[in-house]
Amino acid sequence: MSKRKATLIPGDGIGPEVTGAATKIIAALNVPIDWEVCEAGAGVFKKGIESGVPKETIESINRTRLVLKGPLETPVGFGEKSANVTLRKLFETFGNIRPVRELPGVPTPYSGRKVDLVIVRENVEDLYAGIEYMQTPQVAECLKLISRKGCEKIVRLGFEVAKAEGRKVVHCATKANIMKFTEGMLKRTFEELSKDYPGIEAHHIIVDNCAHQLVKKPEQFEVIITTNMNGDILSDLTSALVGGLGFAPSANYGSEVAIFEAVHGSAPKYAGKNNINPSAVILSATMMLRYIGEFEAANKIENSVFYTLEEGKFRPRDVQGVTNPCSTTDFTNAIISNLGKSAKMIQARNYKPLNIPKLNLPQDLVKPKSRHVVGYDLFLEYNKSPESLGKELEKMLDGTDCTLKTISSRGTKVYPSTGAITDCVDKFRCRFMLKTPLTDHGDAPLIKLLTKVSEKFLCAHIEKLQEFDGKMGFTKSQGED
Ligand code: NAP
Repeated sequence: MSKRKATLIPGDGIGPEVTGAATKIIAALNVPIDWEVCEAGAGVFKKGIESGVPKETIESINRTRLVLKGPLETPVGFGEKSANVTLRKLFETFGNIRPVRELPGVPTPYSGRKVDLVIVRENVEDLYAGIEYMQTPQVAECLKLISRKGCEKIVRLGFEVAKAEGRKVVHCATKANIMKFTEGMLKRTFEELSKDYPGIEAHHIIVDNCAHQLVKKPEQFEVIITTNMNGDILSDLTSALVGGLGFAPSANYGSEVAIFEAVHGSAPKYAGKNNINPSAVILSATMMLRYIGEFEAANKIENSVFYTLEEGKFRPRDVQGVTNPCSTTDFTNAIISNLGKSAKMIQARNYKPLNIPKLNLPQDLVKPKSRHVVGYDLFLEYNKSPESLGKELEKMLDGTDCTLKTISSRGTKVYPSTGAITDCVDKFRCRFMLKTPLTDHGDAPLIKLLTKVSEKFLCAHIEKLQEFDGKMGFTKSQGED
């Protein structure tokens, strides 16, 4: 029988131990997989490869299109970008699926409530696109980019997950009440596309309330579709509902490539100690086996994990109340010896093949009938009062096509004064409106404005104010009428 090629990235810290446990169990079932072992992460950064992902690894994934990956270390708050995020983005794995389910023999404050839900997290857009700038020496900026195309992919994947798992209710969790364009785009796309999935109840929920409800009554949720950062945070929360990160698997799905990994990180303090819980990666491997059609092997492994936990002879250190934890190796060997057995409390569900949407959407998916440029926001560096900035700018506008409408500091209107007390930093957003809106994209008025303004001020960033089909494509400042 020909073997399915797969890329194995053992990863950093506890990565080699947990991925080693998963591949050992897969081998025990003689699943025909031919692993190509590749590097990424800390060791690669040390070799001076700044992306953390060497070209050999990219070539292997291009060949195999299938990856089982251990966690990769990322310096926090400085240094290189995350090699995990790089891998997800390079191969456009747009959906991150993070299921959690109450496990037998793993007591939690929620035991008996049958928590059983999946977070469907958008995986390549949002703040995690990692587009950051220092606008002044003290003001940092991160762009939150959300596309209609990205929303459509994740919403359809969420509903497909629901169909494959026989789920009846799908929620979409956003912060659309505050971020009306970005988070709002996911909400609007969800509401529009949910009509294509009759038989599945669709509800929108504001993400902060979703976090609250997840702690209060998690059993009300089945599938939660959400943006990248919301999903990252909510899924760590949901892992804690069923016993913690040691039990939380995940899959990153794209149209071409799938990457399977635990939700947890490299837990460096436990590296090499043979005392961590390999369940998360083992359960991620079962997701991988289903992805390649090996449903029987996947169910056997999942049922054996449930059985081993329920039996309780071998329990990892992170199971609450365990006084004599087993080693990683003992737990792995117990799962192997229990292959073929099933727990009393839960069994692997009857999964149908997951239909990963292969959407052939054009790059310019949304085509408005009309669009106009109506003004410009210039983000200027200035360390005196907004009144003096406003007066100075107004004096400079002779000979330009613009008027100054407002100045805001960190999104709050400060000129003309609102009469409130607003603390300012050294970056101001100055909103100039065109006397006559532009129907083409000629930049002459902008260049004229910028030439004048930059005689006196440092401009860190420019944003065009546009209207699409007569609707404002920009938000007002807080306090602006
Ligand atoms: P972490 O590695 O997930 O560890 C946090 C804590 O979770 C551990 O200290 C441990 O808790 C528990 N834990 C995690 N995995 C466990 C397991 N398999 N068995 C038992 N307990 C487990 O998170 P972190 O310390 O924030 O991050 C460490 C590094 O991993 C960072 O460089 C981060 O960037 C990276 N990271 C990578 C990924 C990824 O590759 N996808 C994901 C997240 C983080 P106790 O201390 O209570 O025992």
